[in-house]
Amino acid sequence: MTQFPKRILVTGGAGFIGAHLCRSLLAMGHAVTCLDNFSTGREANIAPLRGRPGFTLLRHDVTQPLELDVDEIYNLACPASPAHYSRDPVQTAKTSVIGTLNLLELARRSGARLLQCSTSEVYGDPLVHPQTEDYWGHVNPIGPRACYDEGKRCAETLIFDFRRRYDLPVKVARLFNVYGPGMRPDDGRVVSNFAMQALTGAPLTVYGDGSQTRSFCYVSDMVEALVRLMATPPAVTGPINLGNPAEMRVIDLARTVLRLTGARAPLVFRPLPCDDPVQRRPDIARARAVLGWSPAVGLETGLRATLDRFAAEGLPPAPDACP
Ligand code: NAD
Ligand code: UDP
Repeated sequence: MTQFPKRILVTGGAGFIGAHLCRSLLAMGHAVTCLDNFSTGREANIAPLRGRPGFTLLRHDVTQPLELDVDEIYNLACPASPAHYSRDPVQTAKTSVIGTLNLLELARRSGARLLQCSTSEVYGDPLVHPQTEDYWGHVNPIGPRACYDEGKRCAETLIFDFRRRYDLPVKVARLFNVYGPGMRPDDGRVVSNFAMQALTGAPLTVYGDGSQTRSFCYVSDMVEALVRLMATPPAVTGPINLGNPAEMRVIDLARTVLRLTGARAPLVFRPLPCDDPVQRRPDIARARAVLGWSPAVGLETGLRATLDRFAAEGLPPAPDACP
């Protein structure tokens, strides 16, 4: 008889969101196995969890099958930054498709629930705004983002097929742009780029004219939503949008970061990456109704905490001049 209420597997547990999730689940008293191949995850993210009762680290790649006895699986294994997922696109697609398949088989064998961290990218460059869960999306299946977008779409397909075929208890969350302390300084996504650039006095790199929009959700809000979703009755499968509907233009995010840091760095404009979505905002009516959840942390509060962590982790020397 174990002393822990549940044995929980968090794949991608050494990553940005995964490490926050591991910490919350441990604080709830659960036994947590953090599985990671450390492709984008960091030892530093989980160092504070090492030695805590119930915490186990498992170095493993989800594209390989695994044997484990668990009650719940949160599947976060997958690089999330375009800069990272496009570096090895075949591995990215394999991680979502074969990795999710391996975890579904594991869930079936051990009778576990599986919660998939899917993404707003399943909507692609959306023609419906804000995005509701019944929108099928507008994705380029052969572009440079497809390894991620289509990989996540195929993972959703497998999950709902396992649900229909084997009555497996599954949950699909579609996450919209999450940020917060614990992101890698070299993550490559917009919040970490702007934060590091402002803190080191480098120009802020705005892609395109900066009029494209995103909706940024603070990481503690996201973890709260994921835990609530896992606890819902088996009939609740999702997909369910999780994010902060406060939408903003990328150029306004840059100006906000400059204001909060007091940096006097210029903005520099760079080409918009291929297939970069023009607008993105979650409709979270379903999350409000089903989970009784909505985000609590506003952008400025969240950005301050994020900036403080980057500053505390130590900054590289400021560059001498604009590139
Ligand atoms: P992250 O890159 O920080 O974390 C991903 C983790 O998965 C890393 O620790 C990495 O080492 C690990 N990983 C990657 N491939 C693996 C493999 N084959 N086997 C084992 N481990 C592997 O990214 P994140 O921002 O923490 O995102 C976590 C999850 O949430 C991802 O699945 C991502 O698609 C999803 N998501 C994130 C966001 C966001 O804005 N952060 C938005 C939508 C969806
Ligand atoms: N972006 C930017 N400057 C950067 C990094 C990103 O202007 O240094 C833009 C990017 O083109 C996109 C938005 O910010 O329009 C969000 O990019 P991110 O990579 O964070 O996430 P995603 O595109 O996956 O939503």
